[in-house]
Amino acid sequence: MSTLRFHAIKESLTRKPLEIKETERRSEIFGANVFNEVSMRQYLTKEAYMSVMDAINKGTKIDRVVADHISTGMKEWAISKGATHYTHWFQPLTGTTAEKHDAFFEPLGGGQAIEKFGGGQLVQQEPDASSFPNGGIRNTFEARGYTAWDPTSPAFIYGTTLCIPTVFVAYTGEALDYKTPLLRALQAVDNAAVDVCKYFDKNVKKVNASLGWEQEYFLIDSGLAASRPDIVLTGRTLLGHSSAKGQQLDDHYFGTIPNRAMAYMRDLEHECMLLGIPVKTRHNEVAPNQFELAPIYDEANLAVDHNSLLMDVMGKIAERHNFKVLLHEKPFAGVNGSGKHNNWSLGTDTGVNLLSPGKTPMSNLQFLTFFINTIKAVNDNEELLRAAIASASNDHRLGANEAPPAIISVFIGEQLTKVLSELENVTDGKLSPEEKTDLKLNVVGKIPEILLDNTDRNRTSSFAFTGNKFEFRAVGSKANCANPMTTLNAIMAKQLIEFKKEVDALIDKKNLKKDEAVFNILREYIKKSKNILFEGNGYSDEWEKEAKKRGLSNNKTTPEALKAKVTKKAIDLFEELGIMNKVESEARYEIEMEEYIMRIQIEGRVLGDIARNHVVPTAVRYQNILIDNVKGLKEIYGTNYKKLAQEQLNLIEEISGHIASINSNVTKMTEERKTSNKMEDIEKKAHAYCNKVKPIFDDIRYHCDKLELLVDDELWPLTKYRELLFTK
Ligand code: ADP
Ligand code: MG
Repeated sequence: MSTLRFHAIKESLTRKPLEIKETERRSEIFGANVFNEVSMRQYLTKEAYMSVMDAINKGTKIDRVVADHISTGMKEWAISKGATHYTHWFQPLTGTTAEKHDAFFEPLGGGQAIEKFGGGQLVQQEPDASSFPNGGIRNTFEARGYTAWDPTSPAFIYGTTLCIPTVFVAYTGEALDYKTPLLRALQAVDNAAVDVCKYFDKNVKKVNASLGWEQEYFLIDSGLAASRPDIVLTGRTLLGHSSAKGQQLDDHYFGTIPNRAMAYMRDLEHECMLLGIPVKTRHNEVAPNQFELAPIYDEANLAVDHNSLLMDVMGKIAERHNFKVLLHEKPFAGVNGSGKHNNWSLGTDTGVNLLSPGKTPMSNLQFLTFFINTIKAVNDNEELLRAAIASASNDHRLGANEAPPAIISVFIGEQLTKVLSELENVTDGKLSPEEKTDLKLNVVGKIPEILLDNTDRNRTSSFAFTGNKFEFRAVGSKANCANPMTTLNAIMAKQLIEFKKEVDALIDKKNLKKDEAVFNILREYIKKSKNILFEGNGYSDEWEKEAKKRGLSNNKTTPEALKAKVTKKAIDLFEELGIMNKVESEARYEIEMEEYIMRIQIEGRVLGDIARNHVVPTAVRYQNILIDNVKGLKEIYGTNYKKLAQEQLNLIEEISGHIASINSNVTKMTEERKTSNKMEDIEKKAHAYCNKVKPIFDDIRYHCDKLELLVDDELWPLTKYRELLFTK
């Protein structure tokens, strides 16, 4: 008997939902562990408080003396909450978060000690971070990078540690993390959008990008998950026959949340409340044991930090509930994978959502300006946007008939399609007074504030307008949102700068009025961006053909997709906007290609190991039982045995066939890995892993899964899909 599997199953049957007591109202505990405005007012001098607020709102620098005041206040607050340590919390390019804890405790000598935390320690640290990916930026011998405080994201306490959100940069200034380019991109889009807003409202001083993510995940019993080496080492199942019942009946989606999962969610939400993560929605997703969690949207930098923190907290809370959270985009074949929709918009400091239709024609012209500029930005940079969501794990999802395809397209709904086609006919140059009135009354003025078909209906589009925001749906569940958010805000910044230039040129050189100039440029943009607009079914083969005709990219694999990050166009774009220089762009490309190779390499090793050391020996054991059976029949029935043993004999041969195929394929895969590993050129190597190594996974899996169906269930060592997916 395969003990681990059955032991895990037995244990999973004894689990009870934890009792979660929520004694306080959520509104009362919200942000209790965050050094937010309320606690800052309480613990900081007025000067220190103002200095942080200015840094947040205006990006001003914080004076070193003031930093000392801030750190003292922050330390007192943290200690009052039971914190003993502090850490600079950052997001290296591994995709997870990093922290190195230091105690506040400091001996004074003479047997005395104090709690100390100075401004210097708040503002800058130098972790020994030589082992983080840097794409060749830092020579590991002088691996000096430092973390620097990001005051725009508030410090928080997790467990007994004060966590200070920081950026991570090399001593030579290059970014080594996700946050640095994001902050630069947010600054760029702020500047560019404010300039455009001035056409409509001179009072606008700041534009914030907003992000509302929706996190999908699987919750699997921790014992069952631990019994599968593939889940433990790669976060997904590399083999396993589909369960007879999967998601066909749609009986999980939005169904009653199972008790144990509910207890987990409430526990998780409680921690989120303390950490100031404004989670609001929870529900079952399509696949069995798949769920979703979504907060209210926030300023993008904060929302990115919240999501990174959440992914970490999810895993920690899960331990208490004997669950393992799977954030992988495709943990199970045959049922839906997980994504992380990124809802995105731009909002002004005067309280206007720039992607929300307004009450007046003028506010609607502003809406249309930002709306059409977004479409144009995506149209001109679709390939770069695709690159921003590329990963080995997300490749399983994009284009797998369940998630948005690898083709980026924009869905806008029927009403706005109509508006755009009317705007396309605006006269070239000066508009007659009649045309202007007509436009204002009948086109721009007719956009309803609430769009009826702000259809969330078309779920097959990778980039959909949903009433007052765009929803970037192709982002992977495991991804750090900073990557897509940096790209999206960067291309928008570039587009808005371009727009402003073109409108100003018409005003100055052609003597057009401001709104005439805006209409003229928007008309041209609509004409130029038609390729990206698509309202139909994104999963269909017709769309794939049509997209090809339109010249849209369809990069199905990560090595193909990532190339767009190092084209001259992309490098120039990030450089011009001051977001990343050439070295930084190239380093990131290298890091992501390297990561891709390593992921596939690890999967290959794990699959080879499971196939050879778990599956094949089990099949042989079962085959021996059959052989004994046949021998026994022969002993009893003599020459007549064949009639009785025919099924067994067939099985014996069938098993041998699968074993032979597994062995030859594992050997073939190992050889391909060896050949690939010798390649010096990272691009060639990634393509080899993608096109030579990875395809063999499917062949190995096919034969293993066939054996799963043949071999006695009692002998099978690997916890099965039905057990993983239907244990609640
Ligand atoms: P659903 O898509 O589930 O119908 P909503 O459209 O209301 O629900 O919101 C989905 C997500 O979009 C939520 O996480 C929400 O916070 C976010 N969202 C709503 N408005 C904005 C906005 N202006 N900017 C960014 N995200 C937003
Ligand atoms: Mg949604």
